[in-house]
Amino acid sequence: MSDITLPSANQPTSTPQQAVAPTERYTLPALSYDPAALEPWCSAETIALHHGRHHAAYVTGANKALAALQTARANNDWSSINQLESDLAFHVSGHVLHSIFWTNLTPDGGDRPQGELAAAIDDSFGDFDTFGQQFTRSALGVQGSGWATLAWEPVGRCLVVGQIHDHQSTIAQGSNLLLVCDVWEHAYYLQYRDLRADWVKAFWHIVNWADVERRLVGAVLQSSKVGLFT
Ligand code: MN
Repeated sequence: MSDITLPSANQPTSTPQQAVAPTERYTLPALSYDPAALEPWCSAETIALHHGRHHAAYVTGANKALAALQTARANNDWSSINQLESDLAFHVSGHVLHSIFWTNLTPDGGDRPQGELAAAIDDSFGDFDTFGQQFTRSALGVQGSGWATLAWEPVGRCLVVGQIHDHQSTIAQGSNLLLVCDVWEHAYYLQYRDLRADWVKAFWHIVNWADVERRLVGAVLQSSKVGLFT
């Protein structure tokens, strides 16, 4: 394929000056609780490795991909641009999902949601137990590595449950993630071995419903205020 020529008005007059490798664009957020705080539902060792190694690797990967893209642009080398874009999407998605995941969990979690979130769950799923059934089945049914998700879908203005394979989304575009359950083996294998169902059962005891509701209120507000979809 021949080089893509941009309209002349968009041609830079000189080499862009921002070509400094953005190695610190993404940073690992600190946990707001001690790694042992989620025991017995999720072990301290699992949390420490999951956050300190796995999540940290996505942050490093995202920064590396961003830097490689910048180098490729600076060198006018487009040979692996799609692979780098894919690498960036994978690592940024891993970073974003884990950042949501940590705040979705709390030592004081479990029980049932309240307020607007409870009402939205009833409205979209009938009742909390039906939602819980669907979310659990979604988590157990992920083939290979991935996530179960609860999201606000702003076009139909409802909550939807879905799956994410690896860290890439198959949920509706434009949806806002509210609750995510990591079912990659690294999220449970040290403690639960191959028993993913036991991890998903434990997950319900540490869900931070106040955080999920905070995200719902923000998503609803954003979609109505900006009018992106209606
Ligand atoms: Mn993970």
